[in-house]
Amino acid sequence: MLIGAIEAGGTKFVCAVGDESGDIIAKTSFPTKDPEETFKDVNNFFREYKVEAIGIGCFGPVDLDKKSDTYGTILNTPKTKWIQYDVLGKLKKDLKVPVYIDTDVNAAALAEYKYGAGRDVNSCMYITVGTGIGAGYVQDGNTYVGKSHPEMGHVLIQQHENDAFPGGCPYHGNCLEGLASGPAIEKRYGKKGHQLAADSHVWELEAYYLAQAIMNYFLILAPERIILGGGVMKQQQLYPLIRRKFLEMMNGYLTIENADTFIVAPELNDEQGVRGAMALVPVMLRN
Ligand code: ADP
Ligand code: ZN
Repeated sequence: MLIGAIEAGGTKFVCAVGDESGDIIAKTSFPTKDPEETFKDVNNFFREYKVEAIGIGCFGPVDLDKKSDTYGTILNTPKTKWIQYDVLGKLKKDLKVPVYIDTDVNAAALAEYKYGAGRDVNSCMYITVGTGIGAGYVQDGNTYVGKSHPEMGHVLIQQHENDAFPGGCPYHGNCLEGLASGPAIEKRYGKKGHQLAADSHVWELEAYYLAQAIMNYFLILAPERIILGGGVMKQQQLYPLIRRKFLEMMNGYLTIENADTFIVAPELNDEQGVRGAMALVPVMLRN
């Protein structure tokens, strides 16, 4: 079975074709423009392949309430031309095959679960720390969606007493994303994350925020593994800092057998989004 996959991101789209084993046969990517132009590029790519179904991991928020009339439609986004755009309907209409949609981060979590850093556990969470912060959760091979998808990047955490930055989230100010995303780092220090690599205070504070969120996620969902990806996590020094702070904050309340294997880096080299989109098809066919 030839399967199509789309990683629909706010900055770029990745399209691929592969098979049920998850291997990619062909792949392309292009910048995200307005919806009509973007889907022209999508159609151009898929025209050459006879795919039987498509999986899409989509940026959000997106309506994933199956009972909703607007299922598969983009909701509020700073990319105003995409607001209320019916991504699912457009793909079904143009490509005339079944289309399965989930969030970009749920797709990434599914790929890491099946092929990457979560392949030896029954539940894992994938968190991206990039332009925004988002997280997806997979248990026993299924991604978690409630009434609609979780928005775990916007949880409230305690701000550090020495951090005067008001936070950059347009909705909540100092939520996790507002304090710890790539743009938050840039606004707080006036420099991009990669230019601050040598400044240990930056990463101590970043780890303080991420560890709090991970503690919350762990207390709520008890995943067996937390996989941290995205541009900001290219700062490898964050992993040991986050593990240490997470253990300090947990304060022995629950047993963490080995923090080194609990909080880990992704293993799929930035391909988790598109490989996860492909993996949505067999999961959704099974359900
Ligand atoms: P997106 O979230 O848009 O898909 P990324 O995951 O690459 O893309 O995240 C981009 C953000 O990550 C930017 O804010 C950028 O400054 C930050 N970033 C990218 N590379 C690094 C790095 N090496 N160190 C710290 N921050 C980085
Ligand atoms: Zn927020």
